[in-house]
Amino acid sequence: MTDHNDTSTPQKTKNRFELHSERLATTDEHGNRIYIFPEDVTGLWKTYRTYFYWFLIVLYMIVPWIYVKGKPLLFLDIMNREFTFIGNTFHGMEPIIIFLALVSGLFFLAFMTSVFGRVWCGWACPQTVYIQTIFLGIEKFIEGSARKRKELEDAPWNIEKIFKRTIKWILFTIVSLHITHTAIGYFIGPRELLSMSLGSPFENWGVFTAVMIVTAIILFDFGWFREQFCIIMCPYGRIQSVMMDENSMVIAYDKKRGEPRRGTTPKENEGDCINCYNCVKVCPTGIDIRRGNQLECIACTNCIDACDDIMEKVGKPKGLIRYSTENALNGKPQNLLHARPIIYIIASLFFLVAFIVVIFNSQNLKVQFIRNIGAPYNVVKEASGESKVLNMYNLKFIHQGDKVYHLSYKTSDPTVQFITPRIPTKIDKPEMKVPFFLKFDSAILVNGSKVITFEVYDGEDEATRELVYSQEVTLVGPITK
Ligand code: SF4
Ligand code: SF4
Repeated sequence: MTDHNDTSTPQKTKNRFELHSERLATTDEHGNRIYIFPEDVTGLWKTYRTYFYWFLIVLYMIVPWIYVKGKPLLFLDIMNREFTFIGNTFHGMEPIIIFLALVSGLFFLAFMTSVFGRVWCGWACPQTVYIQTIFLGIEKFIEGSARKRKELEDAPWNIEKIFKRTIKWILFTIVSLHITHTAIGYFIGPRELLSMSLGSPFENWGVFTAVMIVTAIILFDFGWFREQFCIIMCPYGRIQSVMMDENSMVIAYDKKRGEPRRGTTPKENEGDCINCYNCVKVCPTGIDIRRGNQLECIACTNCIDACDDIMEKVGKPKGLIRYSTENALNGKPQNLLHARPIIYIIASLFFLVAFIVVIFNSQNLKVQFIRNIGAPYNVVKEASGESKVLNMYNLKFIHQGDKVYHLSYKTSDPTVQFITPRIPTKIDKPEMKVPFFLKFDSAILVNGSKVITFEVYDGEDEATRELVYSQEVTLVGPITK
């Protein structure tokens, strides 16, 4: 939250990096956007982040191409309601499975936020990863340093500006198309996507339209909208503060050590902050971390590196801006694993275990026994002239995974015939319906009915087949005795 009681921040604007105390750094007094040109930074955290960002980008690009047991490592086939993970396919995508996975993930994110603050935003959010590595990289390559980029922005539209902006947006478009194609690869499979990409767009106009829309969104967001998304639109950014408290790790300015900053007090009273604004200049959301923990901070660590560099130059210890907790900064004991994150992680594990149990159980064959709608029975004449009673039913089989079942059937009364197109019945789809008749002599009925047991077995070999389902069935027919 912005510390509006910060008396060390004068209202009067000294330079463009001395931010207004009452409005966002990215808007002017009329509410118009002020475009941010963050300066380049080098340092330990930037190096770690850059390696990690490239690791994520490469991972994101290669995962759709990795196959395990002949299947994609991760594949979300929404059209066929199938989910493949490490070579295992789960059909049906039952709502309970999706619900449990999502809730477990959300509680885990809450746990991470509660302990490590906005670590997701700074280290793993695709927007941060792609903007910080590729989009800003292209921008710097074409337009130069932050100062040159700002000068180009302020310059009138001349040949140089048109040329540079055109090249930049062409490259942005190519990168956005690549990101989108990779993302779509997770949903339709990379091989299918490749063959679609080589064909005419009109042959796959649905996928083509989706690719164009997603590319346009990425281009707009990563190319231009950028920090505005984090500040204005990101739902996680809006709610993260409720998951954090004084024990959460954040990127913070050590006010006790830094204040009073240079230029605001006689030299002998000065703290360690030399008021160079380097932490502001490198901030991708344009904030001044010295004003306290703020909603706009995406925990990118740029200001840590920028300030450490200055501290090194002025011969003072690094860490004036650092990862810390509010308690630690105020000299109180810090407790990262306190009640709140413990509750979050327990909830996350609970839903994860429930998810695994449901997935495990859903691999077993589920059988639904359904009596046919309509007349309860029919009486038919056999070729021999004998009358037989027919009861008609349906069996519905549901299962996850890849196991193929070979089902056969048995009734407790051997005179009752089971009639279906094929025995054993091969169940090789996640959901199959098998219609069947039970045919019997009306003489076995007492007062028009008889209870028998109906059993379903799995296995091609009768000697080793296993019982998978048993059901009591009431046969019905004409009252003859
Ligand atoms: S305040 Fe620091 S950590 Fe937060 S967004 Fe700005 S530069 Fe990144
Ligand atoms: S970079 Fe460090 S010394 Fe410079 S203004 Fe920021 S906190 Fe102060």
